Amino acid sequence: MSERTYDVVVIGAGNGGLAAAATTAQKGMKTLLIEQHTLPGGYASSFVRGRFEFEPSLHELCDVGKEGEWGACGTFFKDLGLDIEWVPVPEAYRMVITDKDEKLDVKMPFGLNEYIDKMEEYVPGSRESVTNFFDLCQEVLDAIGYLGASKGNPDKKVLTSKYSNFLKTASYSVDQVEKALKIPKKARDILNAYWCYLGTDTEKLGFTIYGAMMIKFLLLGAYIPKMRSHEISLAFEKAIRDFGGDVIYGTKVEKILVENGSVVGVTTDKGEKINTKHVICNAPRHVAFGNMVEGADEIKEKANREFNSRKVGGKGYVAYFGLNKTAKELGLTDYSYFIYPTVDNKKLYNSMFERGNNPMQAIVCLNNAIPDCSPPGTSMLTVTTLYKDGAWDDVNETNYVQVKNKIAKDIVRNIESALNVKISDAIEEYSVASPQTFARYACAYDGSIYGYESETWDSLLPRLLMMKDDLYINGLRFVGGFAFRCHGYSSGYMSGNTIGLLTYKDSLEEK
Ligand SMILES: Cc1cc2nc3c(=O)[nH]c(=O)nc-3n(C[C@H](O)[C@H](O)[C@H](O)COP(=O)(O)OP(=O)(O)OC[C@H]3O[C@@H](n4cnc5c(N)ncnc54)[C@H](O)[C@@H]3O)c2cc1C
Repeated sequence: MSERTYDVVVIGAGNGGLAAAATTAQKGMKTLLIEQHTLPGGYASSFVRGRFEFEPSLHELCDVGKEGEWGACGTFFKDLGLDIEWVPVPEAYRMVITDKDEKLDVKMPFGLNEYIDKMEEYVPGSRESVTNFFDLCQEVLDAIGYLGASKGNPDKKVLTSKYSNFLKTASYSVDQVEKALKIPKKARDILNAYWCYLGTDTEKLGFTIYGAMMIKFLLLGAYIPKMRSHEISLAFEKAIRDFGGDVIYGTKVEKILVENGSVVGVTTDKGEKINTKHVICNAPRHVAFGNMVEGADEIKEKANREFNSRKVGGKGYVAYFGLNKTAKELGLTDYSYFIYPTVDNKKLYNSMFERGNNPMQAIVCLNNAIPDCSPPGTSMLTVTTLYKDGAWDDVNETNYVQVKNKIAKDIVRNIESALNVKISDAIEEYSVASPQTFARYACAYDGSIYGYESETWDSLLPRLLMMKDDLYINGLRFVGGFAFRCHGYSSGYMSGNTIGLLTYKDSLEEK
């Protein structure tokens, strides 16, 4: 077995792994990033079918901002010198509820005042309570900034004096906070449209993470890269190499080697042993502790007990359509649609446990942000839905194609009916990413694309506060959707940045 030595080995080139490797390499650590796929990015990628280049995952990226008002992610990208052409997403969302008794069709803008004004138009009398909601969201955002800066070691006096409302609401769900603020029901339905981005219904979803996400979207808007999320991944890869780091593809890390409670190296499926004291892992924690960590049986058992109490988030299903008409010709006027069979997101969450014929849908028409993203006279439509646990258990080699095509057909029919458009005649290319696809190409555990669910007890705040206790093995830290920032592009990148910096700090203390 051949051997090499690095200061730090990063397992997986998803958003978290790329960000971590760029951070440690920028700090001068001898960094090796190992990715099992032949491309960087995990879900942050692109693929081509016929004359269309599709975005596999990203609807919109939070916390980027623009020149003069960069968000945390935007600042991080700038510090690394990443060259990315950002395009603003035109509106927050259009939400269409199709149930005949609940029918709703609203289009909400970015901008805090604009959003509150629009809400007042749709729900007269909502202004005061919705404004109070966003004031609270702002305090949450400031408090999270403080917690992040304190690296899991906040001053309790500062928390109680400056962020008391944040502390009061930290263990509450979105529904509990909205009800306490007496927000009218219809306004709550509209406010909660983004719930599917976090994949947990608002009765269980931690307010902290939802509030922080919403206020960031409204204050900074959302952005996408001009050349699909692959553009971001390539920019990261370039930065890592420019800072002196190494990246290898088509290589899977099989074991994380531990001796006396500390990391000593990794082995790969190419028969190589790499010596290191620091491993940053972009694979899920329970996969690492279940299959990869070797030489720490007692610690593994304790860690696995903790991870097993968590719920793994939704499995992804995405249908990608290349259409031979323009968005305008097809009547697709908006960039981001949520088409929900009902406003009751608890019912929607529960419906994810089965493959019904009317799934909720988060839809993007990329041409409405980037008109020339597909050839002249064409457009692209991407439709995402989520499933839970056993919903795909009966799918096998025999019925797989039929199952995935049936869902796509249902989706097309539902879009046509909800938006009163005709797209079925215009489909030139069509592709599906099923839970199996995500499991295969990004090593997504059970096809899950959303890390661990961010329920109140396991949401952003508890995870941030537990960061210090999270170190089961010296030198092994986690980044990405299953880590302390929860899932999402910006969370993945920022988790990588924080963990990269902490790893660098550890390495200095060893000297
Ligand atoms: C359809 C879809 C739509 C989404 N929309 C949005 C959105 O609009 N906005 C948003 O913010 N987020 C969105 N997300 C969520 C976001 O994409 C994820 O939270 C984020 O990309 C997860 O990043 P990660 O760091 O966990 O890495 P992942 O993307 O999970 O990548 C992990 C990487 O590690 C590699 N790997 C794993 N194990 C090993 C090993 N043993 N050896 C070597 N390599 C290994 C994998 O191959 C993979 O490349 C979406 C996701 C999907 C799928």
